[in-house]
Amino acid sequence: MSGNTNKTGIIIACAACGEKFNDLTPLATCSKCGGLLDITPALPALCSEKLQNLFDSRVSIGAMRGSAASRSGVWRFRELVLPITDAEIVSHPEGNTPLLERPAVSKYAGVKNLLMKHEGFNPSGSFKDRGMTVAVTQAKRCGATAIACASTGNTSSSLAAYGAQAGIPALVMVPAGRISMGKLAQTVAYGARTLLVRGDFDDCLRLVRESSEKLGVYLANSLNPFRIEGQKTIMFELLQQLAWQSPDWVALPAGNLGNTSAFGKALREAQSLGLIKRIPRLLSVQASGAAPFAHDFADNFAKRTSVRAETIATAIRIGDPASWDRAVSAIRFTNGVVASVSDEQIMQAKQVIDASGVGCEPASAASVAGVRELVARGIIAPHERVVAVLTGHILKDPEKLLNTTNAHGHAAANAPIEIDATLAAVERVLQTATKARN
Ligand SMILES: *Cc1c(COP(=O)(O)O)cnc(C)c1O
Ligand SMILES: [Zn+2]
Repeated sequence: MSGNTNKTGIIIACAACGEKFNDLTPLATCSKCGGLLDITPALPALCSEKLQNLFDSRVSIGAMRGSAASRSGVWRFRELVLPITDAEIVSHPEGNTPLLERPAVSKYAGVKNLLMKHEGFNPSGSFKDRGMTVAVTQAKRCGATAIACASTGNTSSSLAAYGAQAGIPALVMVPAGRISMGKLAQTVAYGARTLLVRGDFDDCLRLVRESSEKLGVYLANSLNPFRIEGQKTIMFELLQQLAWQSPDWVALPAGNLGNTSAFGKALREAQSLGLIKRIPRLLSVQASGAAPFAHDFADNFAKRTSVRAETIATAIRIGDPASWDRAVSAIRFTNGVVASVSDEQIMQAKQVIDASGVGCEPASAASVAGVRELVARGIIAPHERVVAVLTGHILKDPEKLLNTTNAHGHAAANAPIEIDATLAAVERVLQTATKARN
């Protein structure tokens, strides 16, 4: 196929064999060798200052008026994502997520200056919307009749929402009995055809890849390079929020490694365009029961391992990450670190984040737990500026919220108490609370 007839100017090429594809290809992986496809955007010929001004102007003018695409924190950066017109775009809108600072969380992590980039503020409650708006836009551009994904719950929720908006039927495969109630309910409510697969996430991904090859449905997993292009905007947006002054570290939870790859690609492009002068170091954090990438990092990426994944953090319960190659290159390029933290560390960090009023789903708390771990190991210094990405919303995993034993196995101090409908009963509770505080 011809790679240079694209209206968008982007180049799509197989990372393994070099085969080039038209930008309206419905394929998510190489048809010749099955390799991952890479996208090289036609970077705009603007000086860095003009480009920064362009992106900044869209925030002030676009924030409240205009089309969904013009208000989106993804399509604001469309020159670096997919340069197309509003009419072609399927946008909620998404992005524009806050950078939050809470002293209690900084103190817990052990750094003076910790900011949390909360991607749970996206329309379906996770960062997956950033990639999905681009993938579903692409599915629509190339006339797909159905879209499919394997998921631990957030990708399926997001695909279901954007599929509904685009009017394209969505098919999702999730591990039976192993996804949170909130995510399953959301996916079904948005109208996706939902298959509960007797297996784990890695089985679901294998099955959906086969279905897309044999049955011709458009694949929307993060193997799809357009997902990665959209997820780059988490990094662009946080850099813009920091007035293009890079922090020292960006920490994120790592499962299938799509986000780690996207962050590396975003930083490479931001540097080559002159948007930033310094490259922040990436800290990818896995759960210790699902940590093949952390294991490989310790071995200097000499080989690629896979495991049977087990962790309380279902969104990162992945044993054979699909974007491994891209993620290795992201860690190398940023002088990054891959760490693992136990479920106990994750739930303890989550409790601190929740109690600060911010809240997040369990997998998200791995980023903050990872920062604390690296401060303890002396790799992050307390004066360094750190951004921790919180990937999902607190209500994504309601089961684990009401299971309110704390990290030391004690019932939480504010575990719900059932009472008679009398003022005397309320008074008794308040007295005990006051006694406990004194
Ligand atoms: C998908 C997801 C992750 C993992 O991201 P990868 O790109 O697969 O590494 C982490 N946290 C949440 C909440 C997610 O939904
Ligand atoms: Zn190939």
